[in-house]
Amino acid sequence: MTGTAAAEPTVTTFTSTVDRIDTTDVVLTETYFYPEGGGQPADRGTLGGVEVVDVQHRNGDIVHELADPPAFDSGETVEGQIDTAFRTYCMRAHTASHVLYGAGRRLLSDLGYGGFDISATVPDDDEAAAFGPAISGKVRVDFETTTEIDDETLTELERLTNRAVWESYDVTWEEIPREEALDRDDIAFNTKTEEGIEGETVRVVTIEDWDVAACGGTHVGNTREIGPVTVLGRSNPGEGLTRVEFAVGPRAIRQRATEHERAMAAAKSLDTNVAELPAAVDALQSECDDLRETVATLRERLVDSRLADLRDDAIEVDGRRWLIGTVTGLDANGLADRAESAVDDDIDVAALVDADGQYLGVATTGGIDAGEVVDRVTTEFGGGGGGRPTVAQGGGLDADGDDIVAFLRDVSAAADRGD
Ligand SMILES: [Zn+2]
Repeated sequence: MTGTAAAEPTVTTFTSTVDRIDTTDVVLTETYFYPEGGGQPADRGTLGGVEVVDVQHRNGDIVHELADPPAFDSGETVEGQIDTAFRTYCMRAHTASHVLYGAGRRLLSDLGYGGFDISATVPDDDEAAAFGPAISGKVRVDFETTTEIDDETLTELERLTNRAVWESYDVTWEEIPREEALDRDDIAFNTKTEEGIEGETVRVVTIEDWDVAACGGTHVGNTREIGPVTVLGRSNPGEGLTRVEFAVGPRAIRQRATEHERAMAAAKSLDTNVAELPAAVDALQSECDDLRETVATLRERLVDSRLADLRDDAIEVDGRRWLIGTVTGLDANGLADRAESAVDDDIDVAALVDADGQYLGVATTGGIDAGEVVDRVTTEFGGGGGGRPTVAQGGGLDADGDDIVAFLRDVSAAADRGD
């Protein structure tokens, strides 16, 4: 009935007596299987050769759920075999959470409890082929802090975490009386759920010179066993909370290699090296901004020049002067704006069509309804539009710009006749 996984995490093969069985649920007098809890998934493995699919705390018992009803009976002795690779991954990943939290203590203000969780995601095929199906997943730590974890802080958290791994700090655990643990302000607790501090004693996990936390999980004996830690990202799951996700082991190594490859590819494209990449990107960005500005200016001049030509070619129908023609590079809003500024004492109606025949902008001095002109065009060529009587626009037209212009010349005549 007692669980010893957290006390002796390196024991992965053991024999125990079956206390009772309920179909596929088995309770032993003693077990080294770790039941899901404290953000650490349940151990995998076998009991008497039958696969253990889940292990849970239930009413004071540790219940092993088997894949099939077992052949053994209550009172018999069975052998338990814990999946060593998975357990080792969990110990390393979980202890990494403590180390990351310790890094947070050094960088973040008003740090409250950090929630830990090791995801039990199924690895993708590449990962499974390279490292076995058991080793994968993400680890997350939720920091309760007023400090904004920006890119700089995030990389500093990663750097400090790996530094603590390299420093090879011993990790120890002991049971101490609950009151004594609560009196110590160096121990991180989840005061909301009181997880890990419900009993008369509290398991306190200490990483020498680095971190102390109340925790019932399984831990490695020295931080160097964790190996490389790579931060994957950050998010904000709630007010005042920052979630940092990271990976250990194969995924951490792969992530770093992938990022390195991408950085090198980007540097190569810019004909520089990774160290100079940020400066090269900045230079490119500013060159891009300059070019964009130049293009906008030139485009504006082109439109000005085009409008001047169209003004010269304006047609007069029954005393009203119509400026009609195609313009390149403007959307419906742009066309409507330019049409509006084109109408004056000399021009009564300006109807501008995007050269690709998609958009239309019409403005008038008031004698002709701009919306009506747009309606006629969209009825003929598709799309839709709207606006005020003096300025209107259309979009989604499907025709050649010149065909729309020809149509507008007819419309101008028709409008002036009052058709
Ligand atoms: Zn722990």
